[in-house]
Amino acid sequence: MSLSDLSREQLADLQSQQRAAYDELVGKGLKLDLTRGKPSPAQLDLSNALLALPGEETTTDAAGTDVRNYGGTQGLPEIREIFSPLLKVPVEQLVAGDNASLAIMHDTIVYALLKGTIDSERPWGGGPVKFLCPTPGYDRHFALCEQFGIEMIPVDLGPDGPDLEAVTRLVADDADIKGIWIVPTYANPTGAVYSEEVTRTLVTMPTAAPDFRMFWDNAYAVHHLTDEETPAIDVLALAAEAGYPNRVFVFASTSKITFAGSGVSFFGSSRANVDWYLKHLSKRTIGPDKVNHLRHARYLKSPDGVRELMRKHREIISPKFALVESILSERLGDLEAASWTHPHGGYFISLDVMEGTATRVVELAKQAGIVMTGAGSAFPYGRDPQDRNIRIAPTFPAPAEVSAAIDGLATCVLLAATEKLLAC
Ligand code: PMP
Repeated sequence: MSLSDLSREQLADLQSQQRAAYDELVGKGLKLDLTRGKPSPAQLDLSNALLALPGEETTTDAAGTDVRNYGGTQGLPEIREIFSPLLKVPVEQLVAGDNASLAIMHDTIVYALLKGTIDSERPWGGGPVKFLCPTPGYDRHFALCEQFGIEMIPVDLGPDGPDLEAVTRLVADDADIKGIWIVPTYANPTGAVYSEEVTRTLVTMPTAAPDFRMFWDNAYAVHHLTDEETPAIDVLALAAEAGYPNRVFVFASTSKITFAGSGVSFFGSSRANVDWYLKHLSKRTIGPDKVNHLRHARYLKSPDGVRELMRKHREIISPKFALVESILSERLGDLEAASWTHPHGGYFISLDVMEGTATRVVELAKQAGIVMTGAGSAFPYGRDPQDRNIRIAPTFPAPAEVSAAIDGLATCVLLAATEKLLAC
C-alpha cells in the first residue's frame, strides 16, 4: 500500500516503527560517507601498474620527443590516439592535459570571459552571462558558474536530455545565454544518456548569441554498468554538419578510469576552437605532464585496453549499485515513498523523496552518522525548488557500508515522510 493511502493511524504506527529503527541506527554510531563519486581503493588498485611506468629506461615517446622536457602543449599523440575513438574526437582536434578536466572547464570559461571566443564580438565578461543548467546536474559545474558570476537558468533534465522546448525557446531569445552544461553519457546524478535526436536539436538550434557553446562534459563516456556499452555520440561531426562547427567544447578525463588524482584530462573541439584554446593555454603552461601521458599510453595500450579496464571497474561497482537498488525497492518500493534512477552507467543514483523532505532526510542521516551530499546540491545555487532530490554515490564505500548506509537512509526517508504527512 502506498504512503498516501495510509490512514493517520497507520501512518502513526509506521512513524513509531521508523522512530525506533532510527534510534537504533543512531545508537550504532556509524561513520559512513556517500557524498562524493570517488573510485574505491579496489578500483584504484586496478591501475597500480601505472606506479612503475614508464620506467627508468623510457624517456621518449613514439616520435622520439623527450617526455621529461618542456613542450608539446597539445599532449602526447599516443594518449590522444587511444582516446580519440572513445570520445569520437579526431586525434588532431583532441588535446591531452593534466589531471583534471574540471580545470579545463574552468580555463575555457575564464578565457571566454576575459578574451572572448573566436565567435565573440567582445569578451563574455563585458556584459551579463547566463548558462542553461539541466537539473538535477553536477554541483561543480554550477559552482564554476557561481564563482564567475554567470547566471544559471535551470531547465528540466529527462532520461535522454533536457526539456528541448524550454532550451530552444530560451537560447533563441536571449543573447546573454552563452552556454549550456551537458553530461551526455550517464549524467551526474541521474544517469541520463543524451539521444542522437536530442543532440541534433542542440547542435542545430538557432541561438541569439553567435558565440553560444555547449559544454559537453563526457566524464562517463566509457563507464558502463551493463552489457549495453552505449558509444559516444560524434557531437563535433553533428555540429559541423549543422553549420555550427565551433558550438561544442568536449571535456573528459581518466579520473575514473585510472587514478582520480593523477589521470589525464582531455579537451576536444573544432580545429579553430582547439587553436583558440591552445593559444591561451600556451600562456598558462609550457606543456602538460607528458610523463603521465606516456605511462597512461603504455598502461592502457589501446581503446580496447580502456574498454577491458572499464569492465573490471564494472565488476567492482555494479554489485554496489545493485545493493542500493534492492534495499531501496525493498524498503520504499511498496510504500511508493520515493523514486530513484536505474542508471546503466556512471557513478550515481538520483533519489527523489517526498516533496519538501530532502533537507530533513539529509539532516536525519547526518545525525545518524551517514553523510550524504547536501540536499539541493544538484541544483543551481543549491536550491531544489521541490526539496526532494538526494544524490547517492555508492562507489567508494565497501559493500557492507553501502548496505548499512542505504538501509539507514531509507529509515530517514520514511521518518521524514511520516513527520510531514502527520503534520498536515
Ligand atoms: N565532470 C563530471 C560530470 C563529474 O562527475 C566529475 C567528477 N565527479 C568531473 C567532471 C571531474 O572530472 P576531473 O576529475 O577530470 O576534473
